[in-house]
Amino acid sequence: MKKKRKSELSKLSLDIILSGFVIVMGVLLVFWVWVMYSRNQRENLKHNTILTGQLTAQQLHTVISSDIQRLENLKVRIEITSGDYFQYWSHDARILLQQNSSFRFIEWIDSTMVIRRVEPPAGNEEVVNLDIALIEYRRNGWLRHVADSTANITNWVNLTQGGQAFLVDIPVYYGNRFQGTITGGMDFTNAFTSILKDTEDYAVQLTDPAGTVFFEYNVPENYQVSPDLLYSEELAIDASGETIWTLQFFPRPQFIQSYGRSLGLSGLVVGLSISVLLGVISYYAQRASAEARRVHVVNKKLKRLNVALSEERKKADQASQTKTEFLANMSHEIRTPLNAILGFIEVLKNMELEEEKQKYLNMMDFSSKNLLSLVDDILEIDKIESGKLTLREEAFSPQLELQNLVQVFRMGFEEKGLSLDFSCTCTGQKKAIGDIGKFNQIITNLLRNSFKFTHEGGVTVRCDEKVEADRLVVEIRIKDTGIGIPENKLTTIFDRFAQVDSSLRRKHEGSGLGLAITYQLVQKMGGTISVSSESGKGSEFVVNLVLKRAEEKTVGSSINANKDVSFKGKKILIVEDNALNVMVLQKVLEQLNIETDVAENGIVALDKVAENHYDLVFMDVHMPELDGFEATRIIRKKNKELVIIGLSANVTKEALEEAQQVGMQDYMTKPFSRQKLIQFLTQYAS
Ligand code: ADP
Repeated sequence: MKKKRKSELSKLSLDIILSGFVIVMGVLLVFWVWVMYSRNQRENLKHNTILTGQLTAQQLHTVISSDIQRLENLKVRIEITSGDYFQYWSHDARILLQQNSSFRFIEWIDSTMVIRRVEPPAGNEEVVNLDIALIEYRRNGWLRHVADSTANITNWVNLTQGGQAFLVDIPVYYGNRFQGTITGGMDFTNAFTSILKDTEDYAVQLTDPAGTVFFEYNVPENYQVSPDLLYSEELAIDASGETIWTLQFFPRPQFIQSYGRSLGLSGLVVGLSISVLLGVISYYAQRASAEARRVHVVNKKLKRLNVALSEERKKADQASQTKTEFLANMSHEIRTPLNAILGFIEVLKNMELEEEKQKYLNMMDFSSKNLLSLVDDILEIDKIESGKLTLREEAFSPQLELQNLVQVFRMGFEEKGLSLDFSCTCTGQKKAIGDIGKFNQIITNLLRNSFKFTHEGGVTVRCDEKVEADRLVVEIRIKDTGIGIPENKLTTIFDRFAQVDSSLRRKHEGSGLGLAITYQLVQKMGGTISVSSESGKGSEFVVNLVLKRAEEKTVGSSINANKDVSFKGKKILIVEDNALNVMVLQKVLEQLNIETDVAENGIVALDKVAENHYDLVFMDVHMPELDGFEATRIIRKKNKELVIIGLSANVTKEALEEAQQVGMQDYMTKPFSRQKLIQFLTQYAS
């Protein structure tokens, strides 16, 4: 046990280790995939930054060029009108200022380097008439570009009138001489910002050639951008390529963090969950496969056990079969001589005998009948316990049967000096469907016991009948004033072989089977039986039966005790190999004025039946040459009407079934009483 437990524990820990291994491998794999994915995402971001940076640079450059171009347009208009248009200069400058937010002011610097006009004048008063030759950073650049007639773009400078701007000088020539410059004070902040509105995820920084940062968009404070994510481009602002602005373009920190992250994180979480799940599944799969192996082993064992069991069952069936055959044989062997004994007793009883001989004859009758009832009881209990008992369905009146049975017992009771009273609360005889024989057997057993165990007083039999829908509810009480049953025996009284007094010195005869059979029969009929008793005072047995109701006219009775019938002129064939039995039957039939003929086996019987007319044939079943079943089968091929009654000491169900199958009208079991014989004759030959 301990060893088994230990091996189970080690299996369990092995399963856990394996599942843990699966989880660890899964987690490692997921992390590796996650790292690869993250790297890939950074590459993507780099690529996107370059593309977006290039696009943004292009857009910014276009804005700068087109804004500077507007100043150039102003200059061209003055030049091609040879100065005529100059009078509209202020007007045009105002319109330009209104339309374009990149211009802070526009001024006219004449060829002597003095600022002559400024639009708008407000806020720029300080610079009117300002000589820019006096300003170091202005003079050289201005002069150089005037000389080569190209636009001059300064750095991001501090203005005299305050604030900062780029100064863009466009030289104007007409009348073959230099006239002055149209100079714009430019600040691209608004224009750039409106372009960059759609690029919220990125930061932009622009520096002039002097390294001054003049434009920042989304740039976080003190942020050091990683070099691989920084896109730089030099923007050539003027045509000569002298003025170069540097664009720095990079993703904002929060964008870097969130880029592909939610997908990555979801993937990571899903991956990790799947790893854990796989581990758990692998654990349960291992447990399931271990369990399946165990079930397989158990199944194998069960199969082996089943084979062994079915072999045992075969043996038991064989033993049971042997027992049944043995009982049938014994029954036959005991009943056959008993038949002769009881038969002769019946014959003798109907003769004139001396009183003493009559007394001995009665004692012989009593002992033989006891022996017969013992054989019957043993056969009956075997039939019940092997499940071979079947109930017949016949219409009968329980009340009438009781009355008749009481009648049968009355003489014995009177002889013993006991009273036997019958009362019934019912009005009229109600009819029911059931097995009359078994009903009588139940009552007979109870009456026989009350007779046996009562020595003074008497017995009362009481019947109550009640109709409930299509059922007849019957209650039968058999109460005696006998020796009673001790309380501690009441619970076992219905068991097989149970007797209150089982000592060798017991006064009463019996096998202890009667009540067991009674109990089983009542149960089989769907009823109940109970007992109440007091030692020394008496016992009461109560049987309750619920029977199907029958139509009133179809009632029969098994007991015709007092019926006087005449069989004069009837002729009966006795087919029987046992000479003693033939003699007994012949004697009884002769006493009933019936003519008899005898055939000692089936073959002789076939001839006799063919040649003569018989009112009835008593056909023994066990015979040499040709047995009774076979003989009946042959007779039935030609003669369907002839009444054939089987005769045998074999009372097994199989024998009864075969009799019916070969075509016998009925089956009379040996030994039979004179009364039973008359009953058969009344039914089939009267
Ligand atoms: P038996 O053949 O011994 O009578 P039963 O099965 O009929 O077998 O009865 C079993 C025992 O129950 C009897 O031996 C007897 O001791 C007791 N018993 C049955 N009926 C009565 C009764 N009416 N009065 C007293 N004892 C009884």
